[in-house]
Amino acid sequence: FYRPTDKAEILNKRRAHFGGNLSLTYDDPVMLVRGWKHHLFDEWGRPYLDAYNNVPHVGHAHPRIQAVAADQLKRMNSNTRYLHLAQVEFADKLLSKLPDHLQVCFFVNSGTEANELALRLARAHSGAKGMVTPDHGYHGNTNAAVAISAYKFNKPGGVGQADWVELVEVADDYRGRFKRDDPDRARKYADLVDDAIAALQRKGHGVAGFIAETFPSVGGQIIPPKGYLPAVYEKIRAAGGVCIADEVQTGLGRLGEYYFGFEHQGASPDIVVLGKPIGNGHPLGVLVTTREIADSFDNGIEFFSTFGGSTLSCRIGKEVLDIVDDEGLQENARVMGARLMDGLRAIEAEFACVGDVRGMGLFLGVELINPDGSEGTEICRYVKNRMRDHRILIGSEGPKDNILKIRPPLTIEAEDVDMILWTLRSVLAEVGDYAPAPVCDHTHHHDGCGCC
Ligand code: PMP
Repeated sequence: FYRPTDKAEILNKRRAHFGGNLSLTYDDPVMLVRGWKHHLFDEWGRPYLDAYNNVPHVGHAHPRIQAVAADQLKRMNSNTRYLHLAQVEFADKLLSKLPDHLQVCFFVNSGTEANELALRLARAHSGAKGMVTPDHGYHGNTNAAVAISAYKFNKPGGVGQADWVELVEVADDYRGRFKRDDPDRARKYADLVDDAIAALQRKGHGVAGFIAETFPSVGGQIIPPKGYLPAVYEKIRAAGGVCIADEVQTGLGRLGEYYFGFEHQGASPDIVVLGKPIGNGHPLGVLVTTREIADSFDNGIEFFSTFGGSTLSCRIGKEVLDIVDDEGLQENARVMGARLMDGLRAIEAEFACVGDVRGMGLFLGVELINPDGSEGTEICRYVKNRMRDHRILIGSEGPKDNILKIRPPLTIEAEDVDMILWTLRSVLAEVGDYAPAPVCDHTHHHDGCGCC
């Protein structure tokens, strides 16, 4: 039983019962009680377009997920210490999507846990401790996951950088030191890893590995230049380290053209980490690795997770992957992503406060800037909240929180895309009196240039 007028009361109780750092999105928080595909409904039954949440990958309240979950809960739900077909079927399906050298799955309960485990595997395999990771990354909320998440440890109030972690600049070719007009930028960004490796070796930690979100998301929805990751991986492997691709945000067809982000890079990771979308809302994380690395970890100590790889989780995970295939959702991500990108590019040309538009498939970012080209944090906050007033849910990212993040469930349709574009245009028109966008002569890159 719920009473629509309870929103204020729930907010007060939430403040009373939970920590202040359990944050709420939007100045006027949203209360959501139902979902269907990429639509959500509030306490009054009003619809919202979910253009932000990548967890309901195949859509909110998918009937097939409901059916397998109910079916399994009626039978039993147990752990990996007993044989069950669902475990091997899920593994078979997932491995069929991955390169041949990735053969062994570990099932856990979250992206954080999968990254924690990745650290343990990398250390067991390499015998070293040090990790290299790009700045502004996020890999989870536990001690070790925070230690490799500059987005957390480097914030005011954060725990600071561990001695065994070395940061490298994000391969952001819009704002970083090597820009899109530099054809050699992938190699130049990759070369920054050399100093990080040398520092870890100097400190006696050695190199256990490199971990990165394949496309940095909290860093600002960044698509690294092609060839960046393979060049980094080569250096890490030469130093004895293991290469970990965190595909929590980029995997499972979201990118349209690619099932996983590392395919775009032409990279071959030793460990792939999956989370969020793979359970469509059910807590599920997966680590996939090589037989050699799994063998190094198989050192006499049992690996066990009570809920990781439960019968229910395996049924749901397999169903999510099947639905992506059966409903052609990767192709939908490609087509709808292209439609969004076309519209965003037109918007970029129209509004000076749009500095850059980037992304792939349904993983998109719109960088908002001030008239002097600096990060438009306030503009971003305004736009995000105004979009919410129009009942379109999008997020924001980046070190200065000035990049609109558009990352809907893969079910989104053309009319929803058009609604996002139409609404964004009308909200941006409210932003203020900005100088017109600089005219581009298509010969040199300049800040704010989205066409060359
Ligand atoms: N890695 C990445 C790239 C993520 O985006 C997240 C969650 N935002 C995590 C790891 C952690 O996943 P979880 O919250 O499921 O522990």
